Amino acid sequence: MTGKRHKTAVVTGASSGIGAATAIRLAAEGFHVVLGARRVDRLEDLVQRCGGQALFLDVTDGESVARFAGAVEGVDVLVNNTGMAAGLTPVSELSEDAATTMWETNVMGLLRVTQALLGRIEASGEGHVVNVGSTAGFETYPGGGGYTASKHAVRAITQTLRKELLGKPVRITEIAPGLVETEFSMVRFGGDRRRADKVYEGITPLTAEDVADCIVWAVTRPPHVNVDEIVVRPLAQATATMVAREES
Ligand code: NAP
Repeated sequence: MTGKRHKTAVVTGASSGIGAATAIRLAAEGFHVVLGARRVDRLEDLVQRCGGQALFLDVTDGESVARFAGAVEGVDVLVNNTGMAAGLTPVSELSEDAATTMWETNVMGLLRVTQALLGRIEASGEGHVVNVGSTAGFETYPGGGGYTASKHAVRAITQTLRKELLGKPVRITEIAPGLVETEFSMVRFGGDRRRADKVYEGITPLTAEDVADCIVWAVTRPPHVNVDEIVVRPLAQATATMVAREES
């Protein structure tokens, strides 16, 4: 092979929203992209558009993560983007099932994928782990107990990793978005389109591309520049609960 080696970026949760937009942008920057999610048909459609590799990945299943990691050769960049919320339920009523699903997906999933790939990321000599957290990683809101707990944990893991890897060639970044219009709210409300649409009513939310832009900006800084975190929200949002909505 002649010329510059294409760096490899692994993106989890690449079958929709922020992950899909990030995969397209990273591919446009010249990365070989490895895309993981459960809906492989969607990943394969994406590979038709931007090249790369589509692999089944269920981050809640250790064997699936091991198979996924085994199919990846070198890794330079890992975008831990997989995440979800289940419902908007007060802590007093939060079901064990919903809480566990969020924790297993958002926290343990991120941990499993990171552990499986970190050695190769470090060995690349210019590694980067980007964790997609949320403003829910440092704010709370009624009904968000399970989700905010998981995103607070993502933030804690991100900051811990940066300390543990100090002196090693691995950059660590957290991207913390506010309201982004993706499939997120449809998943949160179990496919209830009316409830999902209400989340974005009367505002111009962020798009998946807006967040991908932040991720790709952090990744494409020179290797000595560590963007610790980016908090990005729609102009109409000041906090999780303070949102300026226009009357329709
Ligand atoms: P999305 O459109 O629902 O995308 C979520 C992605 O995660 C999908 O590709 C989904 O793919 C994947 N995923 C879910 N469970 C998985 C599992 N067990 N194993 C592997 N992949 C799984 O939502 P999004 O808004 O782009 O979310 C991306 C990230 O941004 C999440 O971490 C979310 O918490 C965070 N975030 C979103 C917002 C927002 O307002 N949208 C705000 C702040 C932070 P499959 O279903 O095909 O597996």
